[in-house]
Amino acid sequence: MHIITQTHDEYQGMSWQQILAQSVKTVAELITQLALDTSQIERTLRTKLAFPLLVPPTFVARMQKGDWNDPLLRQILPVQHELQQVEGFGVDPLGEQVTNVQKGIIHKYRGRVLLIAASGCAINCRYCFRRHFPYQENRVGREQWQHQLQYIAEDSSISEVILSGGDPLMLSDSALAELLEQIAAIPHVRRFRIHSRLPVVIPQRLTDELLTLLQRSRLKTTLVLHVNHPQELSTEHAKRLPIWHRSGIHLLNQSVLLKDINDCAEVLIELSERLFELDVLPYYLHVLDRVQGAHHFEVAETQAKQLHQQLLANLPGYLVPKLVREIAGEPNKTPLQG
Ligand SMILES: *Cc1c(COP(=O)(O)O)cnc(C)c1O
Ligand code: SF4
Repeated sequence: MHIITQTHDEYQGMSWQQILAQSVKTVAELITQLALDTSQIERTLRTKLAFPLLVPPTFVARMQKGDWNDPLLRQILPVQHELQQVEGFGVDPLGEQVTNVQKGIIHKYRGRVLLIAASGCAINCRYCFRRHFPYQENRVGREQWQHQLQYIAEDSSISEVILSGGDPLMLSDSALAELLEQIAAIPHVRRFRIHSRLPVVIPQRLTDELLTLLQRSRLKTTLVLHVNHPQELSTEHAKRLPIWHRSGIHLLNQSVLLKDINDCAEVLIELSERLFELDVLPYYLHVLDRVQGAHHFEVAETQAKQLHQQLLANLPGYLVPKLVREIAGEPNKTPLQG
């Protein structure tokens, strides 16, 4: 296995917003930047898509030039398979449009509430179960936070608030500071969690300002990253994540098991090792949510269990993520046993 860990000198001194503004949005631009062989152009989809190509330059920089099979490229490149309708793959596999009790709130699990704090993401991952989510109806402005906060304040069984999205770190640090302050003012809330892929694709999102505001809060804070392949981690992550860990932020990672990307014990073991080097603990390894347009990423459940078994046999228990499936209507993510 070949792991490249590049520095991104050309992005040093740039803010995450400036980097985000340079995101690649067309297949043609991606092909040029990666020097991909255009005789294989049929490997991609170039029609206008409701869920378009979107990838920040810092993530493109970690892709292997000239390789159509690069595991990072595969996560974001639109392909023909997406257009096929496959039985069992729907637009709302998690039944979230039912549990979406109030604009911007998903309260499926006891004690934990998920706030949709931002509608967009820095990257469009082709396998994402949110590719059909009605974000437009869930667009939350600051004034709508009041409704969300009221919902949390009125239910004393809620002890943890999770910001999800979209990607909550698309919000500015000052907006996050304001939101966190109001959540911390609700006495029964004890824990605060952020689920974000933004610091993975743009490590510069781990700003000192954000760290300071999280550290200052009375709430115990966890940041759950979303890294699928060790090649996604760079020297920029190595500079920042250990500092966050030492500052008292709990760092976890969740991955999705993806065909021809990380469906290999060697890759998953290396991912756990690299994460731990950066003070991040593996948390969940999700099997794919059966969302329309993502069937070609699915790994058979028997193979998923075998891979998990290999992780158990090769890593200390604390570096083995829990293999889980999300089943609509269940009170928790369902563990899959090997
Ligand atoms: C995954 C998820 C959570 C968090 O679950 P944990 O097992 O606590 O990590 C909470 N709410 C929803 C809707 C989720 O999908
Ligand atoms: S929600 Fe996460 S997995 Fe889905 S597109 Fe956004 S960053 Fe990717």
